[in-house]
Amino acid sequence: KVRVYNFGNGTSDGSSAMKNLLGSKGANLAEMSNLGIPVPPGFTITTETCSEYNQLGKDKVVSLLMTEVKLAIATVEKRMGTTFGSAENPCLLSVRSGSRVSMPGMMDTVLNLGMNDNSVAGLIAKTGNNRFAWDTYRRFVQMFGGVVLGVGAISKEDQNPFEEIIEKFKKDKGVELDTELDAEDLKRMVSDFKALCEVQTGAKFPDDPWDQLWASITAVFDSWMNPRAVYYRVMHQIPEEWGTAVNVQAMVFGNMGETSGSGVAFTRDASTGENIFNGEYLINAQGEDVVSGIRTPQQISLQGSKKWATLAGVSEENRKTQYPSLEELLPNTFKELNTTQAILETHYNDMQDLEFTIQEGKFWMLQTRNGKRTAAAMVKIAVDMLTIGMIDEKQALLMQEPSKLEELLHPVFDSEAIKNAKVLAKGLPASPGAATGQIVFFADEAHKYTDSILVRIETSPEDLEGMNIAKGILTARGGMTSHAAVVARGMGKCCVSGAEKININYKTRVMTIGSHVFNEGDWISLNGTTGEVYEGKIKNKDAELSADFDTIMNLADKYRTLGVRANAETQRECQNAIKFGAEGIGLCRTEHMFFEGERLARIREMILSTDEAGRREALNKLLPIHRNDLKEVLRAMENLPVTIRLLDPPLHEFIPHDLENQKEMALEMNVSVETIIQKVDNLKEFNPMLGHRGCRLGITYPEITEMQARAIIEAALELKAEGIATHPEIMIPLIGTVKELKLQKQLVKTIIEKVFEEKGDSIKYLIGTMIEIPRSCLTANQIAEEADFFSFGTNDLTQMGFGYSRDDAGKFLPIYIEKGILKVDPFQVLDQEGIGQLIEIATVKGRSFDPALKIGICGEHGGDPSSIEFCHRIGMDYVSCSPFRIPIARLAAAQAAI
Ligand code: PEP
Ligand code: MG
Repeated sequence: KVRVYNFGNGTSDGSSAMKNLLGSKGANLAEMSNLGIPVPPGFTITTETCSEYNQLGKDKVVSLLMTEVKLAIATVEKRMGTTFGSAENPCLLSVRSGSRVSMPGMMDTVLNLGMNDNSVAGLIAKTGNNRFAWDTYRRFVQMFGGVVLGVGAISKEDQNPFEEIIEKFKKDKGVELDTELDAEDLKRMVSDFKALCEVQTGAKFPDDPWDQLWASITAVFDSWMNPRAVYYRVMHQIPEEWGTAVNVQAMVFGNMGETSGSGVAFTRDASTGENIFNGEYLINAQGEDVVSGIRTPQQISLQGSKKWATLAGVSEENRKTQYPSLEELLPNTFKELNTTQAILETHYNDMQDLEFTIQEGKFWMLQTRNGKRTAAAMVKIAVDMLTIGMIDEKQALLMQEPSKLEELLHPVFDSEAIKNAKVLAKGLPASPGAATGQIVFFADEAHKYTDSILVRIETSPEDLEGMNIAKGILTARGGMTSHAAVVARGMGKCCVSGAEKININYKTRVMTIGSHVFNEGDWISLNGTTGEVYEGKIKNKDAELSADFDTIMNLADKYRTLGVRANAETQRECQNAIKFGAEGIGLCRTEHMFFEGERLARIREMILSTDEAGRREALNKLLPIHRNDLKEVLRAMENLPVTIRLLDPPLHEFIPHDLENQKEMALEMNVSVETIIQKVDNLKEFNPMLGHRGCRLGITYPEITEMQARAIIEAALELKAEGIATHPEIMIPLIGTVKELKLQKQLVKTIIEKVFEEKGDSIKYLIGTMIEIPRSCLTANQIAEEADFFSFGTNDLTQMGFGYSRDDAGKFLPIYIEKGILKVDPFQVLDQEGIGQLIEIATVKGRSFDPALKIGICGEHGGDPSSIEFCHRIGMDYVSCSPFRIPIARLAAAQAAI
């Protein structure tokens, strides 16, 4: 078994087709080397080895790798003409993670590996540059100490201890910049850093390059299981068994002086999608200096540099002298980079995210990958590439990540409100969107407020979870390629980065902007599209959808075969559903119509009634209101099918459970509070979700079903009289045996016939059922005899199939996911293996009776891309989801059909 794949010098053992085995970074390094693009030579240890590592443990895997790694290092030494640990011409290495899909910053990286007292002398001998050599040594100890040895701040308010030492050196010397420290300072710093590591770990700092290498390789494997990587995987549904590869590569140095540098670039704008090559770099710096936000990076292109200067309020004079573009500073290198980016984009047919280093004028590519982008950019890039014929329609659709579309549908700031808002500061428009919230300064406190804005000097990968919870992110430092910016864009979260005017004090939990002082909990607003930071709350309005969005949606409709409907009950939801392209309503939950005002009072009156006559009286009062509400829904959905579900929840949900509200209800209903309390007691069930609900209500209180059937048909007939065509589909919930359906259906039909007679008119309608109890799946052939359609209620089906209470699963599901018992929350992503089988059985059995039986899904899963793919595969007719997920469903259905 081969565990190590070499690359470099225009050849490689792998290629971009081997992403699963080599990880994305490794596969693309191999591919670039094959394309003749300069990459520093190195090798990739496979992702399979990571899985072996997790099963067999460290010692075993190190011994399995020993021979291959030794050979691979020898190859790197030969290709570079250097020797590992040499005092004349040392070979230095970088060790990086790289899984199948990029997980920016989630796992570990070690640079400048191989540094010790010997190789520092070697580096001096080779370069004649004392300061550079000691700075490299200093960087290595800092990174290896932090990443591999876990040396860091003791509490979150504390500064990183390495940074603290650097600050102290600068203070003692009376200088401001790291670059003002000389070789002697750095030499002393190395020994202070080592001492710090030894104090914190209680062990000697490893000087042997081989010890450093094995510790780094195993640290990368270990980092696959670190909490932030685990969280990221759960968030993006990345399976644990994929594992990470380890890329070991010869170092090239961006910090060798004024003709060296490092940078990150995108072949197109990752925020807007515009076809503009852009990126950031720093002279005399290594890669992390650019992304960590420690120094303000400069723009690669002249055009980008001018745009940046305008945003940052920097004069043209200052820009040219202090922040010149790479295009101006090193024009030849810029040309080479520009040519390479074009080659790579055309080769991969997608927007690329690049990392490069310039060592004394020579240009090296360190990475290329499909770039993370906002939803707006995702849509625009695909349409632009389609227009020029670079990709075809199917490729354009496959380039879309359906779930991301939701970003485009959410509200933006109201343009009127924004005119009156006070701009506090301006940063970079790192990730578009509008966010209003209360300030928090620490990621693990983002949950303190329902709407929080995470305010940080800069973010680090540990902040991932808090960034996800917060409504928006504001950083004082960092550019468009900083960690905060990249991660926020990936999440579709509003982010303003590098707002240099803001000052943050973590210890006192205060942010100051000029003379304004903000405390934790104060409200601010961010516009991630312009980079503006505002005081207080700002009103939102609906998003406007672009022409490119329409293009992609129309393409999706061209290819999909699955219908898409909405779960909606109100007029507003219906309007949204239509706007987003719904072809009908798949679930109108009538109970949602009963939760307010007069409606709730009548339902309560019915519940409090002690006999049928009393219930009928209350229901009679509810009838005209219900009919009107239904009319509005049917009217909004003119000509389209509307599935209306009869009352489903246990009745206790309509009655308050706290004394305060019970007293209020007693007053309203004109009964004693004891009566209410007694009723609540009466309705109490051990397992209400498995209790008196669904069709069981209609069977025990037929008058409820009668009233609803009448309201639906009367509404439809009244609309018919107005000349409006409707297609009502009456749905009976929670059927477990065919008899239940038969009884309810008879009741509904009798009432409808009666209404037809009374009105002297009729209308076409359907009566169908929800399939949401396992028994109904297994007896679906019988149920099909009575049903015009099936709609899978996968919320209840998941609840009853797994035996997990929908309302209580939150207590243990996170632990189940953490322990790997479940990969994802089955209430969000359909469990195809188990619950999927129930659905398949029901589909096959149902259609064995009626091959044309109409089948849909209306549980939460109807809006989840992987679940939609399943629905397409087993031949459903439609999926139904919340209005905001309709575009996602249309796209996912198209992808499933391609
Ligand atoms: C379901 O159970 O999947 C469903 C759609 O019904 P509800 O969520 O209302 O129980
Ligand atoms: Mg249900």
